[in-house]
Amino acid sequence: MTPYYNDHTIVFLNGQFVKATDAKIDLYSQSFHYGYSVFEGIRSYKTASGQTRIFKAIEHFDRLERSARALNMPYTWARQELIDATYELLSKNGLSDAYIRPVIYAPANMSFTKNAESFVVIETWEMKPFLGDKLLRVMTSSFQRPNPQAFRIQAKATGHYVNSILASQEAKACGFDEALLLDINGFVAEGPGANVFYEKDGKIFTPAVGNILPGITRATVLEICEEIGIPATQSLFTSDELKNADAAFYCGTAAEVIGWERLDDTVFPKPWDETVSKVIQDAYKHKVIEKEYTYSLQTS
Ligand code: PMP
Repeated sequence: MTPYYNDHTIVFLNGQFVKATDAKIDLYSQSFHYGYSVFEGIRSYKTASGQTRIFKAIEHFDRLERSARALNMPYTWARQELIDATYELLSKNGLSDAYIRPVIYAPANMSFTKNAESFVVIETWEMKPFLGDKLLRVMTSSFQRPNPQAFRIQAKATGHYVNSILASQEAKACGFDEALLLDINGFVAEGPGANVFYEKDGKIFTPAVGNILPGITRATVLEICEEIGIPATQSLFTSDELKNADAAFYCGTAAEVIGWERLDDTVFPKPWDETVSKVIQDAYKHKVIEKEYTYSLQTS
């Protein structure tokens, strides 16, 4: 059995709750053959008050719709309908701290034509932070992020993830934990499944949008910086600038906020516990469970 489901697992498939082991999708789907589908990666948490809450549910389901429309896929679901279905799915699977994966996929179609309808499946399982909880050893990838003129790069489309898989596998084969991809102009873009930030002199920097998936966690980190008064800049920068940083981290729904030990041969000099990045990491951990937090920017 996979770590994702067992004989009792329920999925939401086109309006019905069915067993994962009974669910079927069409082998002639354009999605399966050409990587033409869109998806979301969402987390729910058991909050400080004991409730199960989907973090940033509206933002995720709105992005799902925008991604589908960006790829010319018909989209017929109301946001609240899918949010309600997801809560019901979590309850049917007895899950509270969970990872949630909705996918919008295409019907049988071996040509490249537009379809008259789309389908939806929502799956959920328990998942630890996907990049682990230790500081990461990151390798600059030999793969670039896709040319934004070739794809709708701001959409979370499955086909883009072939690039992510290649980069991540290459980094692991070279003994690193994860890859960092540059954009087609050589500026730092993002990780295979996370956005990147660096810290210099108590300030935070992240690549501007244009060549990246504008992450919901990235937006949350910027929100936290605003709330607690950390100056944050969105701009293009090179990996040399990044290597000159005091600290760096990846962030994403699955990864949450996770610091870096090194990029290639460059070890980040500031002890993680003394960085403002760590303050952001703690704030994020509190935010997702709706717990009040106090913070101190008294870093040396
Ligand atoms: N970039 C890529 C390529 C991703 O796959 C993800 C994960 N969805 C992110 C960034 C982070 O996005 P989010 O914070 O919305 O999960």
